[in-house]
Amino acid sequence: MLCFGAVRVKGIFQMNVDLTRLLTGSTKGIEFELNLTQEDCVQLTKDFPETKFDFPIVLKGKVSLCDDGSYDVECNSDVGFSEPCARCATPAHAVLNICIETKAIRGMKADDEEDCLYIKNRELDIITPFFEQVVLEYPQYGILCKEDCKGLCPVCGVDLNTKSCNCNKKIVDPRLAKLSELLKEEND
Ligand SMILES: [Zn+2]
Ligand SMILES: [Zn+2]
Repeated sequence: MLCFGAVRVKGIFQMNVDLTRLLTGSTKGIEFELNLTQEDCVQLTKDFPETKFDFPIVLKGKVSLCDDGSYDVECNSDVGFSEPCARCATPAHAVLNICIETKAIRGMKADDEEDCLYIKNRELDIITPFFEQVVLEYPQYGILCKEDCKGLCPVCGVDLNTKSCNCNKKIVDPRLAKLSELLKEEND
């Protein structure tokens, strides 16, 4: 069931799914499971310097032969990560479910098949599209320690989850500020 050509060559990590058994017709589907360590994810962590990922990152998936001779690729992973809460800066944790469902074909990249993966040397590189998907799905505005985190007072900086203050917090959120402007215009 597990099928991996995982090699570390002179510190450069390469991990492709070995599809030999599928390509030679001895099976219709190959399941794989990859455990990525921190060392394997240097590339990913470079894109997120503030973030601590939970390791190992486990990628599970399947490559199967379709009637038209192409291959269906499925890959799934829950990626846990920690970073400071976007509102109050205390440690927060979240999980991203990364799911890849695509096609793979043998041979060279053709212009009209941009969205599929390519099988080279009987191997499929799943790590690259996986990392691309993490980058795409990563929450742009950060994560919260809890859904109703009250954040820090923008005036005095106290953590409003644990303390209160008497500051004039009229303009707390830039989005709300915009809204109140609009409301004001409407009322004028
Ligand atoms: Zn918070
Ligand atoms: Zn305050």
